[in-house]
Amino acid sequence: MIILVVNCGSSSLKYQLINMDNEEVMAKGLVEKIGLADSQLTHKWSGQKKVIQQAIPDHHVAVKLVLDILTDPQCGVIKSMDAIDAVGHRVVHGGEAFSKSTLITDEVMQALEKCSAYAPLHNPPNIVGINACKAIMPNVPQVAVFDTAFHQTMPAKAFMYGLPYELYQKDGIRRYGFHGTSHRYVAGEVAKVMGVPVEKLRIINCHLGNGSSLCAIKYGKSVDTTMGFTPLAGVLMGTRCGDIDPAIVTTIMEKRHLSTKDMDKLVNKESGVLGISGVSSDFRDLGDAAAKGNKRAQLALDMFHYQVRKEIGAFAAAMGGVDVITFTAGVGENGIEDRAAICQGLEFLGAKLDPERNNVRGKDALISTDDSTVKIYVIPTNEEIMIARDTKDIVSK
Ligand code: AMP
Repeated sequence: MIILVVNCGSSSLKYQLINMDNEEVMAKGLVEKIGLADSQLTHKWSGQKKVIQQAIPDHHVAVKLVLDILTDPQCGVIKSMDAIDAVGHRVVHGGEAFSKSTLITDEVMQALEKCSAYAPLHNPPNIVGINACKAIMPNVPQVAVFDTAFHQTMPAKAFMYGLPYELYQKDGIRRYGFHGTSHRYVAGEVAKVMGVPVEKLRIINCHLGNGSSLCAIKYGKSVDTTMGFTPLAGVLMGTRCGDIDPAIVTTIMEKRHLSTKDMDKLVNKESGVLGISGVSSDFRDLGDAAAKGNKRAQLALDMFHYQVRKEIGAFAAAMGGVDVITFTAGVGENGIEDRAAICQGLEFLGAKLDPERNNVRGKDALISTDDSTVKIYVIPTNEEIMIARDTKDIVSK
């Protein structure tokens, strides 16, 4: 079975074509700057790469271009579009309507439209991508895989905010959590690597990238996570502020006469490690600047490491203990110094990092000492394979 995995952003489309017989990635690529003058497609297959620069006015054209290149006699990997058995779409927000991945029907599309109110930046481009694929491949089943779905097992005491109850009932204001596909994948993978059923493990997964979230996974289920109603909450991120006192928002808006749009931009795009350092949102740049003595870059890193460590402590308490801590995503998989700084001081929990073993990037690896009672692992995430697996399961039924 061949599955096309599609992840649409507002001006981008990432894709992977996966042969599910052996889970081999046949081809993958990225369409960037959709709707802008300098749009381009980067296509990779069998160790080769092709870049096409041309006007790509909308997602419909982007999907067509992807299918053209996948079936191209030179750089394609399939003879015709008919070889694609199903399409799996990443959808950011499934609200309370979706606790697992689902086959896309007209009813599902209506429910997805409703969820757009919760994720106005993310869900509309996901829907545009689904509609484009449906129009071009009307007979191919399409599946939606949600970032929020894995967290639907959180108990009310973890997902409710201390706000008037009717805001939850009428407006759906609650913690939803994100990166669910990544948290679910890493939990399954670490259990496999350890040779222990996931139902027997209490895992704290640290998905640390441009956007970061931690998840407490107790016996296979998400019981708490740091992101909230939106992906703005939790630890500070590349450009997002993470948790702040909500009174700061009203104070700054009043004092600086900011509109909701300006305020939204401030907390989403101008904050986080970028806002603190004034240097960059990229953790590699921060490391370089800090090494040259930039104090604000060092402060941004210190804040990030401290906040992640604090959440690990909180989630250990939430689960009544922890068996394994996992690191994933750009910083989690590659940031050797970041992992070391985060784990410094976690020895009281029984989590001891081995500096030699920690000297690793981008592959499954045990990085705790032999006498560490809490195991620490690096597990590269793979949201695409999770989407493809769910899609295969659903269309095979
Ligand atoms: P992601 O959002 O998962 O793609 O992660 C992007 C983040 O990972 C960026 O801030 C990168 O700087 C960071 N990253 C990638 N490689 C490294 C590295 N070798 N050390 C530290 N951070 C890294």
